[in-house]
Amino acid sequence: MYRTHNNNTLNLKNLGEKVKLSGWAQTIRDKGFIIWIDIRDRYGMTQLVFDAERTPEAVVKKAREIGREFVIQIEGEVIERESKNKNIPTGEIEILVEDLQILNSSKTPPFTIEDETDGGEDLRMKYRYLDLRRSPVKNKLLFRSKVSMAIRNYLSQKDFVDVETPYLIKSTPEGARDFVVPSRMNEGQFYALPQSPQTFKQLLMVGGLDKYFQIVKCFRDEDLRADRQPEFTQIDCEMSFVDQEEILDTFEGLTKHLLKEINGVEIEKFPRMTYADAMCKYGNDKPDIRFGMEFGELNEVTQHKEFKVFNEAELVVGIAIPGGASYSRKEIDKLIDWIRRPQVGAKGMVYVKCNDDGSFKSSVDKFYDQDDLKAWAEKTGAKPGDLIAVLSGNKNETRAQLSALRMEMATRLGLRKADEFAPLWIVDFPLLEWDEDSKRFHAMHHPFTSPKTEDIDKLKSNPGEVRANAYDLVLNGNEIGGGSIRIHDKETQSKMFDYLGFSEEEARAQFGFLMDAFEYGAPPHGGIAFGLDRLVAILGGQESIRDFIAFPKNNSGRDIMIDAPAQLSTDQLKELNIEVKLSLD
Ligand code: ASP
Repeated sequence: MYRTHNNNTLNLKNLGEKVKLSGWAQTIRDKGFIIWIDIRDRYGMTQLVFDAERTPEAVVKKAREIGREFVIQIEGEVIERESKNKNIPTGEIEILVEDLQILNSSKTPPFTIEDETDGGEDLRMKYRYLDLRRSPVKNKLLFRSKVSMAIRNYLSQKDFVDVETPYLIKSTPEGARDFVVPSRMNEGQFYALPQSPQTFKQLLMVGGLDKYFQIVKCFRDEDLRADRQPEFTQIDCEMSFVDQEEILDTFEGLTKHLLKEINGVEIEKFPRMTYADAMCKYGNDKPDIRFGMEFGELNEVTQHKEFKVFNEAELVVGIAIPGGASYSRKEIDKLIDWIRRPQVGAKGMVYVKCNDDGSFKSSVDKFYDQDDLKAWAEKTGAKPGDLIAVLSGNKNETRAQLSALRMEMATRLGLRKADEFAPLWIVDFPLLEWDEDSKRFHAMHHPFTSPKTEDIDKLKSNPGEVRANAYDLVLNGNEIGGGSIRIHDKETQSKMFDYLGFSEEEARAQFGFLMDAFEYGAPPHGGIAFGLDRLVAILGGQESIRDFIAFPKNNSGRDIMIDAPAQLSTDQLKELNIEVKLSLD
């Protein structure tokens, strides 16, 4: 037996007991006649004491061989500590060691294994197994496990069955590139790793499973924007014989359950907002509604004067920045520099200071009088003391730029509080999205999403206006889930492929199996998928998903610990019948 207790349990109630403990040596303090060692495991830490007067000499001698991160096992007696540490459960006792085994030695770790470490990101990624020993990282994995368990419990209770779907499949269109795997047995052919189990979960509904869920890895070969992973985890769900309302209700229930179980937060009802409203009020389809700063559209109250920039703009729109009237000229210039950075891309910014006495001072006083500016303040909800920031230009770009400014200012002003939770549903997404590069419409969600019945007629005449039975769940400015009611008849599905520019042969080759299945009595169905990594991070009050994943990849999609991806050996390539030609340009 390696241990009688873990390193987080012993306290004054155990005084006098003989115990065995195992773990890693965290800190070693050798005062000559007395040596203290903190022994650590997943559960916590216990202080060991080797006392020359009371511990056998051979044991004290062996204790001097222990280095940081050695794996040790001790036997000893629980005694009361002199200088107590009330911050940890074992802080009032220590173990007077009587016997010691060194179970394994350790090289000196390349960084300190403490809550605050001296290791840089790369080093910690290379030695991830050491980083995992640090409480902040370990605790995030424990937290994730707790969230997963709560999800499984909730869904199982609601009759969802956990079904595994294959990883070696054919492309699923979720808008990213596929990761592909060559098939040795089928020369020249490749599997694609699932971007999601979308088609399989729909087939499970045709198969009569009725309610499905899976906590599943998905793979998308995208350029890694900050804090994305090429492989990530979804809570993937599908239900039969449901309408949109029942799906929203079920998964609002799941989210409420998590907020309550994990965060102790109770939320009555999640608000709902149409996509159109979200874009208009927040310039964003995943608005953070923990704070206001709603957009005020100003075309009506700005385009009657000689100011050409506004008169020629498709959209003039502003927000009120709380307390911004006190910004100095220099601070405002800095803000303008910020929104002109290529990442945001605005050309410039007009601003209005709303003075405490009710008057206004703007950067366009030449064109607009106090009454004009008062109208702007009304539209943006600006109060005395605020700064109105106004952007103009093409509608979509301007909204995106102002949304970036809104989020940045909220962060700077401390309005995005990690312990506050503001979920909301975004509904009525457009079915199709215009793509400038290919000059055609693409499915905004994916090609299996059903259009709203009342909009079907517009598919030919005004495709951009057709709304979908699609919804996203947003939490604190992040899309944490999204899904749709699916098309479940062959005719509509093939019409949809046609609109999306798939030839009949292409549609047949890629999705023939689904169309075939739809000919055998597919029930009406719909579903949703949550991004588990992000959801866990938000519930944990963190911005980054990285430490909630045991073995994450870096920003170039590399696992620098195992050094992947890597080249294949010539033998492997031969076996796969693959030749690698690296283009050197
Ligand atoms: N498969 C979709 C996704 O991964 C979610 C869904 O429609 O259920 O985003």
